[in-house]
Amino acid sequence: MSTENPAMAPAAMASATKQDFIRQIVRDDLASGKHAAVHTRFPPEPNGYLHIGHAKAICLNFGIAGEFGGWCNLRLDDTNPGKEDPEFVEGIKDDVRWLGFKWHELRHASDYFEVFYRSALKLIGDGLAYVDDLDAEQMRDYRGTLTEAGRNSPYRERGVAENLDLFRRMRAGEFADGSRTLRAKIDMGAGNINLRDPAIYRIRRVTHQNTGDAWPIYPMYDYAHCLSDALEGITHSLCTLEFEDHRPLYDWFVDHVDLPNHPELWQPLLDAGLPTRPAKPRQIEFSRLNLSYCITSKRKLAQLVGEGHVAGWDDPRMNTLRGLRRRGFTPAGLRLLIERVGVSKQNSVIDYALLEGCIREDLDAAAARRMAVLDPLKLVLTNLPPDHHETLRFANHPKDDSFGMREVPFARELWIEREDFAELPPKGFHRLKPDGEVRLRGVGIVKCTQVIKDDAGHVAELHGTLDPQTRHGMPGADRKVKGTIHWVSARHAVAAEVRLYDRLFGVPAPDSEEDGRSWLEHVNPQAKRVVRAWLEPAAAAVAPEQRFQFERLGYFVADRVDHRAAAPVFNRTVTLRDTWAKQADS
Ligand code: ATP
Ligand code: MG
Repeated sequence: MSTENPAMAPAAMASATKQDFIRQIVRDDLASGKHAAVHTRFPPEPNGYLHIGHAKAICLNFGIAGEFGGWCNLRLDDTNPGKEDPEFVEGIKDDVRWLGFKWHELRHASDYFEVFYRSALKLIGDGLAYVDDLDAEQMRDYRGTLTEAGRNSPYRERGVAENLDLFRRMRAGEFADGSRTLRAKIDMGAGNINLRDPAIYRIRRVTHQNTGDAWPIYPMYDYAHCLSDALEGITHSLCTLEFEDHRPLYDWFVDHVDLPNHPELWQPLLDAGLPTRPAKPRQIEFSRLNLSYCITSKRKLAQLVGEGHVAGWDDPRMNTLRGLRRRGFTPAGLRLLIERVGVSKQNSVIDYALLEGCIREDLDAAAARRMAVLDPLKLVLTNLPPDHHETLRFANHPKDDSFGMREVPFARELWIEREDFAELPPKGFHRLKPDGEVRLRGVGIVKCTQVIKDDAGHVAELHGTLDPQTRHGMPGADRKVKGTIHWVSARHAVAAEVRLYDRLFGVPAPDSEEDGRSWLEHVNPQAKRVVRAWLEPAAAAVAPEQRFQFERLGYFVADRVDHRAAAPVFNRTVTLRDTWAKQADS
């Protein structure tokens, strides 16, 4: 945990140019002196792992705090025991760090249960909350509809003393789950349904992962969230658009509990050594990140895992942050996506290709090059002696010398990609064909002299000759041929498992249910294909999560779980070009 101010690092300079409406509000509030510093928070509920949509909220909250010299808390919004799990808490912390951010303090909404309770007693004492005996169904019935006002509960006019007594007994665990509810006394005729005496507390005798069995009652989200913000001194509470209609309630609780002027409510936090300086937060809404070909609902992601459509939350097909990580996506690439998408109140669906483009852009600069053959066909260079062996030197990156050089063994027998040979080449085919020539990357020009077939008539092996005049430093080195192909020395190649991933859903809007099909029916069965491949030695003996461009094939990462230097496992992160756009055109 970092308590220092991450502040005005180079990131701050870069962002001076970001002009979205939220940053403008922050800028104005700092300029006017309304706030001395900006304090934000990222408040996930630990009921699942984070997904690509959360990356937007993370980048926004942590990004703004960093850019303007403030800080951002990570708060686990753990008011729903039963659905929540410490495993998810650890996963969330891990994912936030992986994306490149540091929280100021780690807090839990459950840290504040005593404050919430005291605040509720205050609201009751002020005549602003009451204990209702209606059950859930009756309450729904009394609430009214968008076009019809609600009706007052028969329990609405209970006296303060009776309400205090009943609420204390709710807290003491005297009543059955769901039998009573504490409600705010606002206005059953309000046009905004959120203001029709919303529930504050419900009775649920469920063990909580942090507080155990200490509480038989739990606060509702709308009540707990705004008070948590206030307690932490959050200045700008950024949330997604669906909370816009909840803002009047957010303000109602903040104003009527009035934490800054009632230190007796939060004294327990000071006693427990939790620094607390409440302030009045302001809620600001922005549009969610929606991506085509993706599902961004924890519930549905949990279903994919639970029903075995994928191997787990970190399956590289999942658009969870851990899935994307395992797939080889980079934090910088994801941050670039969020920057490109920008911040607004306009709901839209971002094309998945934009995400892939950002990842390619980052990896093009950040990934060393290697050679690998995914679908091998043997090529024997018959004019080299059987024991021919050379060690060639290849640049690790075509545009960046700082990546240095590596040694690549070269010998008489090579693996090339099966699709780089065509016995009956289509027009415009510039790779290897019978009697044709092609350049072997970093070696010279090879002519195909013989095609050897197996009994079934399949091409089993190629023979060719390497033109010695086209080797490095020879007069013919620059001789032009149209195609260049990659290769791996068969004797030196390391066998690897390569997992070729593609989009998990075969349609752009899997959960639109427009065509009457359930989103699960759109799971793309081709989204994972496993092949046995050959790697050049320098691609094999690497640490998990090492990323490479396998030349001409795409970007790949050594699997962070299964990869071993002696038994390499690579995941394809993304192809070099957008193959989906091509399909859409044809
Ligand atoms: P889900 O519906 O998947 O459960 P959620 O909104 O309930 O998502 P939370 O854990 O409550 O998930 O979210 C934590 C924060 O992340 C909230 O501030 C929420 O607004 C934000 N968030 C969630 N999904 C997105 C998204 N797709 N785009 C931007 N922000 C998001
Ligand atoms: Mg939620």
